[in-house]
Amino acid sequence: MVIETSNETETYSFGYRLGEKAKPGQVFTLIGDLGVGKTVFTKGLAAGLGVEEPVSSPTFTIVQIYEEGRLPFYHFDVYRIGDVEEMDEIGYEDYIYRDGVSLIEWANLIEEILPEHYTEVKIEKDLEKGFDYRRIELCEY
Ligand code: ADP
Ligand code: MG
Repeated sequence: MVIETSNETETYSFGYRLGEKAKPGQVFTLIGDLGVGKTVFTKGLAAGLGVEEPVSSPTFTIVQIYEEGRLPFYHFDVYRIGDVEEMDEIGYEDYIYRDGVSLIEWANLIEEILPEHYTEVKIEKDLEKGFDYRRIELCEY
């Protein structure tokens, strides 16, 4: 499934709708270059889950946990990971196999330890279609 957005609000809203529909144990992977809108999308998804506190990037902690929504939300950012073993140390598997909803930014860096089933969200720009254009592709694995 592909959707196209032409501003930040549309990307946020798309995330929001996925957050509203997310199921216990669902894992989202989020792929896309810097500045493409991963954080915008993630904020929408968290809001759709009912998380009210502000969601920021968990870059220095790898995982940030939000418990106040309809389901717990585990937000990973693995951009700075050196080795996949660091994921064991933070209890990665304990989160992704729980009943919360996980979202993993830069999941391509930990491809070998992704679960069997997940929803990949890939965001890309296409400057020929304008500076604010984004192509968002959803793929179920
Ligand atoms: P990332 O987390 O991928 O590095 P951010 O979400 O922090 O990116 O930033 C995306 C930037 O792109 C924001 O400044 C946002 O306003 C801008 N932007 C412009 N158009 C869009 C769009 N269609 N969807 C999402 N963000 C957009
Ligand atoms: Mg970001």
